[in-house]
Amino acid sequence: MSKINLSLPEVQIREIRINSITGYQGDAKELVEAREFGLKDKERSFSQCLGCATSKAACMTVLIQDAAVISHGPVGCASCLHEFAFTYRVNYPLRGIERPTPRRIFSTNLKEKDTVYGGNIKLANTIREVYERTHANAIFVLTTCAAGIIGDDVESVCNEAEEELGIPVVAIFCEGFRSKVWTTGFDAAYHGIARKLIQKPRRRRDDMINVINFWGSDVFYEWFAPFGAKPNYIIPFSTVNGLKYASEAAATVQACSTLGSYLGAVLEQDFGVPEIPAAPPYGIAQTDRWFRALGKILGKEEIAEKIIAEKKKEYLPKIEALREKLAGKTAYVTAGAAHGHALLDVLGELGIKAVGAAIFHHDPIYDSGREENDQLAQRVADYGNVFNYNVCNKQEFELVNALNRLRPDVLLARHGGMTLWGAKLGIPSLLIGDEHYSMGYEGLVNYGERILEVIENDEFVKNLEKHAINPYTKWWLEQPPYYFLKGGTGK
Ligand code: SF4
Repeated sequence: MSKINLSLPEVQIREIRINSITGYQGDAKELVEAREFGLKDKERSFSQCLGCATSKAACMTVLIQDAAVISHGPVGCASCLHEFAFTYRVNYPLRGIERPTPRRIFSTNLKEKDTVYGGNIKLANTIREVYERTHANAIFVLTTCAAGIIGDDVESVCNEAEEELGIPVVAIFCEGFRSKVWTTGFDAAYHGIARKLIQKPRRRRDDMINVINFWGSDVFYEWFAPFGAKPNYIIPFSTVNGLKYASEAAATVQACSTLGSYLGAVLEQDFGVPEIPAAPPYGIAQTDRWFRALGKILGKEEIAEKIIAEKKKEYLPKIEALREKLAGKTAYVTAGAAHGHALLDVLGELGIKAVGAAIFHHDPIYDSGREENDQLAQRVADYGNVFNYNVCNKQEFELVNALNRLRPDVLLARHGGMTLWGAKLGIPSLLIGDEHYSMGYEGLVNYGERILEVIENDEFVKNLEKHAINPYTKWWLEQPPYYFLKGGTGK
């Protein structure tokens, strides 16, 4: 039964909706198989800090061109949101935006007194003032723990402001304490956008395909052209108007199923836009399946076959040459769930042995309920098992311990700050900034070359290792990495 209910203001959290977990240690095959028999989360008796759902909701909403975002809470909860203003700037020019505009990020700055008397009036006044200052086409209000604890009626305040101002004012319930799985923040943002911005379709457009993504380079424009379609990138860099009719697209594809699981399912179930039944196109086998699934949904299978044949003719010899150069190399991956699986696909295809992975959470099944969208299952089937597979919500002490033991030839990290740990240990480390860069057949060449370059240019990290101070003690590095995970020996 679908867990999507747009009549409710709040999204159901991932732990409940799709049984996601944040603690696991074992191998990838066991984890995939656990889907069948019921997956159980493992608690940690010690934990370093985690991410917060608020920043994930901000990651989507702050980057909408003509919107403004208010964090309803203490100012500290908004202190990391400026990073998305940075993301916006460094990714310019992107998606045809001619002139970048300053991001509009505000906080209601709840104080101690507000937690006694309530923050509703402060929020109503802030929405008014933000509108006067920005004339945004939509205002998003992100809730925080403090606002949730004091029980502010954020939904009613937003609805009243919407009537008064005549623009969508969207309450997004993403308090950090609501979920251990911070990607619930993406779902919360999509839930609000689907409730208040996306309209029922007026017609179906064969020339538009939704791409749920972050801010990767524009590979889909060229891929969709033979099908007579253009990508509609959602959500970052879109506009309020552009989002309205995402409901009219011929299909939805995703760059990362962890990111787009909920929105893809909402677009299909509530607006009739089919989501393609295939995991994103990383690795040759998955890229073949992805183009075929897309061709089938568009009724243009012969075009998909033609693309596959032409691209393989061009890129397979290059991929084979890279495999020879990379033979015998090992790698470790740390990333969010589906993109981590995608990187494991890329490694498998390039013949690099993945000696382990620290993946930030695990969704046993996505909101579509389709097993074909399970990229980890595909990875295990296409390229074999991955041992030392750890699900850890960015517990860096576990990562450092595992890296120190496994000593791979290269570390691939999706999130800023994580490459530091590899570099300090003298391990060449690559930050994956553009999630589209390794997609498709050409992506394997892009990444193979990049990985080779990183491995060969290791002088800096080797020198850094000699001078770096590791904050973790010798005692910790001698313990098993999962010492504090339930079932481990730590208390
Ligand atoms: S919403 Fe909660 S978890 Fe997130 S930054 Fe604020 S206090 Fe921390």
